[in-house]
Amino acid sequence: MELFPKVFGAKQILQMIKIYVPGPCVVYCLNRVKNAYLLIPELATNRMHVFFSFYHLHGSDSLKDSLARYGFVEDDITDVVLTHLHFDHCGGSIVRNPQSGKLIPRFKNATYHCHKKHWDWAINPNPREKASFLKDNIIPLQESGQLQFLDTNNPIHPEFEWLEVYGHTEAMVLPLIPFKNTKLLYLADLIPSIGHLPIPYVMGYDVRPLQTLSEKNDILNSALQNQWILFFEHDPSNECCLLEQNDNQ
Ligand SMILES: [Zn+2]
Repeated sequence: MELFPKVFGAKQILQMIKIYVPGPCVVYCLNRVKNAYLLIPELATNRMHVFFSFYHLHGSDSLKDSLARYGFVEDDITDVVLTHLHFDHCGGSIVRNPQSGKLIPRFKNATYHCHKKHWDWAINPNPREKASFLKDNIIPLQESGQLQFLDTNNPIHPEFEWLEVYGHTEAMVLPLIPFKNTKLLYLADLIPSIGHLPIPYVMGYDVRPLQTLSEKNDILNSALQNQWILFFEHDPSNECCLLEQNDNQ
């Protein structure tokens, strides 16, 4: 079986009633009246100049401006879902208070959600991932009292589901968000770009690459069967796709 991506852009997603896509994040509006939004941040704005000399953000969008474009301000955010705690997936959660210099949660009205197994893994990092888990991106969340562990028995909201994968890092969470008669799957670092769709093409950062292969196979089959929309967090050109199968292969 060979799977082909049918690519479409964030602008089409914006036509959707409930899903907003500011840059690499998804803001999911569960209920406008109750101000309940979910957001998965990626930017790392609290880092020092030396750090940014090694990394480049795509484009000049800021999270604040992107939210504003869709009528949100940072204080509207009530729930932040962290897929995992590698710095490029959680750094946007924290800002430096200009007066005190202290690192504090950026979204003051939000609960930050993280898988417990992943949290424990990140705060006692192995040598391979140590450089990706930056304590000043992580610990202020717990110190603020705004951190909550994702719990299958106590979901954030009945509509919010997630898949757990263990090949990229321990207990990475992939949000699966309902949309019309299907769902949008936020792929985080399981399939970071469209170039990573073929099963053997996994990230060099993966801690268990063979497990990623098997997880990708299972998840792509489910995505094909259910016609889930796949959302790529690291692809600068292709935000989303649906899968089509070529039965001749
Ligand atoms: Zn990662």
